[in-house]
Amino acid sequence: MTGTTVRVPAKVNLQLAVGPVRDDGYHDLLSVFHAVSLFDEVTALPADGLRVTCAAAPSAQVAIDQVPLDDGNLAARAARLLAARLGVAPHVALHISKAIPVAGGMAGGSADAAAALVACAELWDARLERADLLDLGADLGSDVPFSLFGGTAVGVGRGERLTAVPAAGTFHWVFATADGGLSTPAVYAECDRLRAALGERPAVPAASDALLAALAAGDARALGTALSNDLQPAALMLRPALRRTLDAGTAAGALGALVSGSGPTCAFLAESDGHAAELAAVLVQAGVARAAVRATGDVPGAEVVRTAPQTVGRTTLP
Ligand code: ATP
Repeated sequence: MTGTTVRVPAKVNLQLAVGPVRDDGYHDLLSVFHAVSLFDEVTALPADGLRVTCAAAPSAQVAIDQVPLDDGNLAARAARLLAARLGVAPHVALHISKAIPVAGGMAGGSADAAAALVACAELWDARLERADLLDLGADLGSDVPFSLFGGTAVGVGRGERLTAVPAAGTFHWVFATADGGLSTPAVYAECDRLRAALGERPAVPAASDALLAALAAGDARALGTALSNDLQPAALMLRPALRRTLDAGTAAGALGALVSGSGPTCAFLAESDGHAAELAAVLVQAGVARAAVRATGDVPGAEVVRTAPQTVGRTTLP
């Protein structure tokens, strides 16, 4: 049987500006997405029904018991959506090899949905334009289009309308993972609650000129200063221990430190690969992270890495 394996990156929001709540209940967002070299892989194989399996990638410490294996899995939803669009039966065995923290604010589920779209499109010989895949992705969730897009991009609307942003050079990151996830809806609700309590009226979000200039120049020091996340106060309110994590990274010389998306993963910008290794060691030794993972950005979005004959039993996937 021929299987297709797609590699897909995690994201960190370099800027996440949360505007007013819209009539449809979503917030108006402006997000500067940055794809980093922390990858899930999704393998699609022909099957007689729709099945999902998931395992931790080699040496990854991820809570795969939190990943649903039924229709709640975003990769399964992506396969169903694409099959309906193509008018074919959604018969595929999807295997997720997971390295992206689960419910960690790094868009792991969205990444798997994007990878499943690309893998199933290949398996079913869909011959779709990239724009069609991006539209299908937007129907699945606001982070899915960026997982297809990759690189660095500004997203507006719910975050799904994307424009590529030039980013020079390579940025070095450390991601401090935490025990237990944070629910994205709960973090947005806490953000609304805090704003109401403080009488804050959010402005229509706009991209930070300083951030875009730092990216274009490949200036890590300036980028570190320009990082921002409007969800951070809410994530810290729900998980106060993250303050210690951020402080430990800053004290160890991180150029910038912020909660990634809705958290609880914290992102630290380093000067170099060596500095990232030092930071990661400090965070783990200080006991403020479950694990500290190094990655670089930016990297491409979901892409086929293997199309090869693979053998599979009826229930056991690679
Ligand atoms: P985002 O950054 O997009 O808000 P996140 O990284 O915080 O998301 P995910 O890892 O996408 O969070 O997981 C959120 C929830 O989605 C999980 O708790 C899990 O129940 C569900 N889920 C569905 N499909 C997947 C998947 N393929 N991988 C991980 N979680 C999934």
